[in-house]
Amino acid sequence: MLFQELARVYEQVEARSSRLEMTDILAGFFRTVDCASLPKVIYLTQGQLYPDFYPNKLGLADRLLLRTMVMASGVREEQIQEIWLKEGDPGIVAQKVFQTKKQRTLFSEPLTLDRVYDGLVRITEEEGGGSQDLKMKLLAKLLSDATAEEAKFISRIVTGKMRLGVAAMTVVDALAVAFATKEDRDAVERAFNISSDLGKVAQVICSQGIQAVREMKVQVGSPMRAMLAERLPSPKEILEKLGGRAAFEYKYDGVRVQAHITKKGITLYSRRLEDLTGQFPDVAKALGKAFKGESAIVEGECVPVDLNTGELLPFQEVSHRRGRKHGLEDAIEDYPVKVFLFDCAFKEGEDLTSKPYLERRRSLEESFERTDEVRFSEMRVLGDEEAVEAFFQEALRDGCEGLMAKSVEDNSLYRAGSRGFLWIKYKKEYRSEMTDTVDLVVVGAFAGRGKRAGVYGALLMATYNEKEDTFETVCKLGSGFDDETLAKLPPLLESYKLSAPHPRVVSKMVPDYWFEPSMVLEVLGAEITISPIHTTAMSKIRPGAGLAIRFPRFTGRIRDDKRAREATTSAELEAMYRRQLKTIGG
Ligand code: AMP
Repeated sequence: MLFQELARVYEQVEARSSRLEMTDILAGFFRTVDCASLPKVIYLTQGQLYPDFYPNKLGLADRLLLRTMVMASGVREEQIQEIWLKEGDPGIVAQKVFQTKKQRTLFSEPLTLDRVYDGLVRITEEEGGGSQDLKMKLLAKLLSDATAEEAKFISRIVTGKMRLGVAAMTVVDALAVAFATKEDRDAVERAFNISSDLGKVAQVICSQGIQAVREMKVQVGSPMRAMLAERLPSPKEILEKLGGRAAFEYKYDGVRVQAHITKKGITLYSRRLEDLTGQFPDVAKALGKAFKGESAIVEGECVPVDLNTGELLPFQEVSHRRGRKHGLEDAIEDYPVKVFLFDCAFKEGEDLTSKPYLERRRSLEESFERTDEVRFSEMRVLGDEEAVEAFFQEALRDGCEGLMAKSVEDNSLYRAGSRGFLWIKYKKEYRSEMTDTVDLVVVGAFAGRGKRAGVYGALLMATYNEKEDTFETVCKLGSGFDDETLAKLPPLLESYKLSAPHPRVVSKMVPDYWFEPSMVLEVLGAEITISPIHTTAMSKIRPGAGLAIRFPRFTGRIRDDKRAREATTSAELEAMYRRQLKTIGG
């Protein structure tokens, strides 16, 4: 097939803004293309060489394209620069430059689709020393054989600026119209959603017909487009929407991964289908160890944890890993993550996406050992508003954003790539931002683990309740300590050690060591939340619950100028909670 035909179609598409017209033009054209070439046509139309989940290496620098145009056209650099300044778009620049060149010489071969496609692949694959010159040479060869119209689209594609305005869903429509009927578009869309590969769907529909598209299955190595959630503001509305009963799960605040597992290896994909395996080799390894079968596709959320307190950390902690090629091992040690699995789309050759949720969940739980690093999302099937609200509070206490409600009805399939009411998130704001430091009293300590073996891993901190003359716990403090302070704490606290909780300390937690309330530390937290575990301001905001400081950090200041009874009071913390809640609108 000649590239010219494709360029002509692109011109026509570009001149239209209506999706319907674009669909018709594309559909008419797709019918004329042989099935083996169709994937290339589809990828190029999207300004790509491969499906979405391959790293897109197109994006040659404008400067290199400009120099290549000089080489290929013989037009002077200044002249091209002038056009570039005026036009801005590399495609239009190329078109103008190659129009001024005399038409193809006798010796130039007409460009075929394969030649352009393979040429572009080679250009993107050249890497390392001398690769710029090679890229330019390869591109110059294509451009010198191109017509002005062809040069326009080659230049756009190679710089990553195709921008034809053809959305993936327009290609889906066009494939249905070209090879089946408009009514079949949902089947084509489903095939795209479970494979993320329009080229593959195109080849199947072209060579085997719509029935084969209907029979396409999820496959290891081809990531599914992620299923997304709607949002509703109350347990009542959620339960009504989901038929009175649903699976409620902790909504973890981390990084979503889709793990494709075989005996040969594991690949982790992000929600945007990028390969995350390099960033989370520890997660891949842990999944491999915990997996009991031969092959599977599962989904979960990676959440950073504090080794010493066992608490879940804000997901930003994971970002310390990003872009780290060197020192990734240190980052893994410093910012360990757990993965909470929540779905299973494929197992032992069987596509589970059309099975109801609880069945998929059962498959998931049967497939993995529960280990330290590999967990299942905390889940309860509930049909009662109060029970949902209580579970929501537990989720917040455990460092989660709220709950995910999932339909458990017969039609609760895994709907790849779309947002719908089969999953509903519940994230009411019960947290408030904390901008002031507080002074808290050390009432207990937990033994350290890992790098902190031999010193305290975290301290149990309390506020002072003036009215009752008690100390009420408010957080576990493990961050913000340098090595020197960590080493200093045990001897400093030695003289306050007790064999049982101090009678004035009110705690539901049981630390490894108890202290007489004495030492005061300055602490800054991220926010104050409702907590059924901590006892500060117990039952003041919510019956049976206290307040907690999330993500507390020692500021470095030991308040030896303050006695324990001069620490921040429980009433002050309650006031801070109420004040801060207002500023974010409750
Ligand atoms: P949102 O990004 O607010 O639309 O919420 C959807 C995201 O929540 C998903 O993409 C997951 O990354 C994340 N998530 C956390 N916990 C769960 C869970 N138990 N089930 C599904 N998604 C979850």
